[in-house]
Amino acid sequence: MTYKAIKIRRGKEESLKRFHPWVFSGAIDSYDETIEEGDLVTVYTHDGKLIGNGHFQIGSIAVRVLAFDDSEINEEFFLQRLQHAFNVRKSLDLMRDDNNAFRLVHGEGDFLPGLVVDIYGATAVMQAHSPGMHFARNLIASALTKLPCGIVKNVYYKSETTLPFKAQLDPQNQYIIGSYETDEAVENGLKFHVDWLKGQKTGFFVDQRENRSLLEKYSHDRRVLNMFCYTGGFSFYAMRGGAKLVHSVDSSAKAIKLTNDNVELNYPGDSRHTAYAEDAFKFLDNIKKDEYDLIILDPPAFAKHKSALKNALIGYRKLNAKAFEKIQSGGILFTFSCSQAVNREQFRLAVFSAAAMSHRKVRILHQLTQPADHPINIYHPEGEYLKGLVLYVE
Ligand code: SAH
Repeated sequence: MTYKAIKIRRGKEESLKRFHPWVFSGAIDSYDETIEEGDLVTVYTHDGKLIGNGHFQIGSIAVRVLAFDDSEINEEFFLQRLQHAFNVRKSLDLMRDDNNAFRLVHGEGDFLPGLVVDIYGATAVMQAHSPGMHFARNLIASALTKLPCGIVKNVYYKSETTLPFKAQLDPQNQYIIGSYETDEAVENGLKFHVDWLKGQKTGFFVDQRENRSLLEKYSHDRRVLNMFCYTGGFSFYAMRGGAKLVHSVDSSAKAIKLTNDNVELNYPGDSRHTAYAEDAFKFLDNIKKDEYDLIILDPPAFAKHKSALKNALIGYRKLNAKAFEKIQSGGILFTFSCSQAVNREQFRLAVFSAAAMSHRKVRILHQLTQPADHPINIYHPEGEYLKGLVLYVE
């Protein structure tokens, strides 16, 4: 099957030949004048050889290649890709009685550029990041309900904030299939409400699941400070791990309510936990030294684009320096960056500078990353975004 044609400039097809799924606008030699935002297109080399089929978009990433052959992009195509994604999650043992929250589709990492699907029990929360995926939303939703074991019954489409504003698609957040059943999900035996209607991203950060498990192991008898807590994931793992006290901090009052609700769901009336709606930087300035011996820093992406890199690195350095200043000797620091534009080395260097500034003796115990349900397509290294360090601070 071929679609409207896009021809790549001579010498600009090398990355596509290595299966990198993006065509940048500068690499285009010519294209069919009738092509519109979100159209399916067929990409050719300068001398007319077919590279593959993908979605066209107005902007720097002009095409996201879905198939490096002439496959028709229809419901059958999406079902096949979803089934592969499903098989991967099955082999990761993420669908259990005590775990029903995971990422089913991680964009390029699942060979579906522009699409994210998180599963919470019987509900799939779907986000389109490209106009093409927006136009395909009904096909994808239908394919989702055809997955084995009838795992998906409801599909909630949530793309109001993920689609390019300029495309004027006016996507409505809504159920495409099914309706509201429950907002309760379970991760490694811990329960939580997922607010996919109003929450950030798809409502919960499933990407920290394994790192929360690791934190649980370090929590026994510790005084834990969970900065940028959002829905409180790290907090209730720490409580299960036997923390002496857990303080959760987020600047959003809504996040603090979610955290309190989730703690209550798992540990009703447990007086070990308190949540504060405050700015993380100010909070760290105001605490006394040695108040905590386990601190989590999981801020939002400081750099959304490469242009913000320098300031982001300064931000990470400042934030980590404050934690190093205050953490008790023998304390453990879990520190993260989810900025795609900041690479592992840059983040480590920022934390290194923070350690040096605060004159603490610091050892790296673990180097953390995103879990296997957020796979990285080997041809698309940009898919790696989550970085974390677990540090022992003397
Ligand atoms: N650790 C969380 C995810 C964090 S998302 C989890 O495991 O689910 C980042 C959070 O940082 C958001 O909830 C946002 O409200 C909060 N935030 C952003 N800027 C902040 C600031 N200056 N101080 C405190 N919280 C902030």
